[in-house]
Amino acid sequence: MSDEAKRGVVLRDEGSSVIVDLDGEEVACVIRKTLRRKSGRRRKPVAVGDRVTVEFSGDGAAVTAVEERRSQLSRPDPSDPRKEQILVANLDEVIVVTSAKSPDLVPGLIDRFLVAAESRELDVAIAINKVDLDPDREFDTVAQVYRDLGYTVLETSAEDGTGIEELRAFLREHTTSLLGHSGVGKSSLLNALDPSLKLRTGEVHDGTGKGMHTTTTVSLLRLPWGGYLVDTPGIRAFGLWNMLPEDVGYWFREMRERMPDCRFKNCLHDNEPGCAVKAAVEAGEIQRWRYESFLRIVEGLREETPEY
Ligand code: GDP
Ligand code: ZN
Repeated sequence: MSDEAKRGVVLRDEGSSVIVDLDGEEVACVIRKTLRRKSGRRRKPVAVGDRVTVEFSGDGAAVTAVEERRSQLSRPDPSDPRKEQILVANLDEVIVVTSAKSPDLVPGLIDRFLVAAESRELDVAIAINKVDLDPDREFDTVAQVYRDLGYTVLETSAEDGTGIEELRAFLREHTTSLLGHSGVGKSSLLNALDPSLKLRTGEVHDGTGKGMHTTTTVSLLRLPWGGYLVDTPGIRAFGLWNMLPEDVGYWFREMRERMPDCRFKNCLHDNEPGCAVKAAVEAGEIQRWRYESFLRIVEGLREETPEY
């Protein structure tokens, strides 16, 4: 590395250049041609989240090297499904955000996000927001189910500040994505964490006049206290596009440990005789709503015929 070289993190992709965070400064960089040639079947050699080396010369700043990725969240490239599009590299963890009230906490609604995150080997926690609206702690029953399964469950309120310090500590030095349905308070939480962070909304005009579509661009926000947040355009980016229906049960922790006891190795835990998972549901050892959300996810995967 020459004196002129610095290391940084790619925050955004702006087409002909990428925006790199160099110690808190956002610098637009071109991508060195030698990197482009090596990129193989991927369209771009540099992805949002990449740790990169930036060199400065008379022409400006250029990305000259990319560190090996610890993880990558990808999907088929919309313009050429044979290619892989990396949405974000080096993501560490996901926080699934839900609300105690308004909208009501619906058990099972977050299971899809948990499966998506865990199947990608990301750390995952759950945040129950708007606890100020539920002074009787009706959310406790559901929270306890997830705690018993080993998940961290944070209780937050963007309104009165409950749990915000804990959330901030959780985000520190990590690259995190907040996932959750609209209206649960994701942008309000960011605002409570630091008013300079503003979560974008997913809907943008695509310029064709045909109205709105959900952008596929992901960008990173630098947290002033260390770490990055993924500014996710939409939860679709965290779909289950490459998951086989028969693998879903593996990502339900309480099902995984019982699956070896099913009579059939390829048991789908639906109508098969001798299914240890169903037996545990009947015995009240597995929450029925968790089992039902498993069935819904499997059903959804069967209906979604991939286009590639
Ligand atoms: P997002 O779609 O997940 O980003 O949700 P928003 O941050 O836009 O919040 C949706 C609505 O819930 C807004 O009217 C917020 O003011 C409100 N809200 C967000 N967090 C809380 C909270 O902790 N307590 C209460 N009472 N309202 C909240
Ligand atoms: Zn079974």
